[in-house]
Amino acid sequence: MLKPIFPNDDTLIIDRSKWLKAYSLLNSRSTTKAWAYIIQTLRLTVTDKVDTMAVDGYFLYVNPSFIEGLSVRELAFVMAHEAYHVAARHHLRRAWRNPKGWNIAADAVINANLNETFYGFQDPVMPKDGIDKPWARSYTAELAYEKLKKDQQEQQQQQGQDEGDDAQQDGQGQGQGDGQDGDEQQGQGGGNPFEDMKEQGWGDVIDRTDEMSTEEQIEAEEKAAKTVKRAVKVAQQQGHVPGCIKELVPSDEAKQDWREVLRTFASNLIPTDYCWHKPDVRFLSQGSYMPGVIKENVGRIAICVDTSGSISQPALEAFASETREIVEEIKPEHVTVIYCDTKVQRVEEFEHGDDFRMEAEGGGGTRFRPAIDRALETDPDAIIYFTDMGARDHGEDPGVPFLWATYDRWGATAPYGEMIDVE
Ligand SMILES: [Zn+2]
Repeated sequence: MLKPIFPNDDTLIIDRSKWLKAYSLLNSRSTTKAWAYIIQTLRLTVTDKVDTMAVDGYFLYVNPSFIEGLSVRELAFVMAHEAYHVAARHHLRRAWRNPKGWNIAADAVINANLNETFYGFQDPVMPKDGIDKPWARSYTAELAYEKLKKDQQEQQQQQGQDEGDDAQQDGQGQGQGDGQDGDEQQGQGGGNPFEDMKEQGWGDVIDRTDEMSTEEQIEAEEKAAKTVKRAVKVAQQQGHVPGCIKELVPSDEAKQDWREVLRTFASNLIPTDYCWHKPDVRFLSQGSYMPGVIKENVGRIAICVDTSGSISQPALEAFASETREIVEEIKPEHVTVIYCDTKVQRVEEFEHGDDFRMEAEGGGGTRFRPAIDRALETDPDAIIYFTDMGARDHGEDPGVPFLWATYDRWGATAPYGEMIDVE
């Protein structure tokens, strides 16, 4: 069990009556009971070391002076907001992303979803200075992060242009590009596009994965999954589960048979010609004359591998080992493996008969199009893309059989192609 980052401060006094009223407001309604359930799984820690409220998946840090300035309905909103961070595992999903940017992105998604469900005159209501971006409702925090980053970079570029200094503009563009590929931790690298962002909001999520062992991280994942499942059960008993929380439940069904779908996708690529001259002997004995089937090898397959920092190594290994078996089975003439984060990092070619391998180390952000464009140069019969769907530059349908082999995609979909969830 983790210790709180900030200890409970007994000298501070929290308005308990307001706190309980806000909690009861959530707990008394079928539409919000799930959030109340999650709140009571967290340990309340009173501190002035956070400006407003913050959650790390185990502890709920509360600054009493922030509570003072809120109405009961506003406090209920912030409670639901913090519960949402936990349900969505925002404390475990940040990966390499900049903490400030991650908070803003996660808040955009949360507030957009909560604002959609809260519209009654007694419902919780968003306090002022909340991150308010209605477009984020259908986004995952990862995709919202990418969009905010892009918007911010465009804005910075625009500002550079307004200053009318072309030479400076070129220099700036270069620097930002470099920063994008590297780590986006605070204080590292020159290209943190979130640094100038004025928006901060309230109700932070704190990521403690750095101080956790692998076992502790797995435990934290399981705890979060269990919490959200129970919260949904509690809501179900009340007859209403908010759509946004339903989407947060880790789906067991989605993980079924991805290997089979991958196999079917691959075997469908085998061109099958009917040949009437070579009758199928199985049917000859029954007196009928059926055409024989000649199977030829698949031509060319391109496999794109997302090497962004958020990709799961175990999922990649599972995908790679299954792919290796399939490649050995269907014997394509040529396989191109393209490793890509925001740009193509490495390309490996395998001819029929070569020993097929896949391995990748983690990198920066995610872009799809550089890998897809590189894949199309090989004139492939099919493209398989292994990714967490953490980008939106799908571009136009490449017009060849396309399979997204995804991991941890949090409801993100693609405008074309088939999709499997690799566990
Ligand atoms: Zn937040």
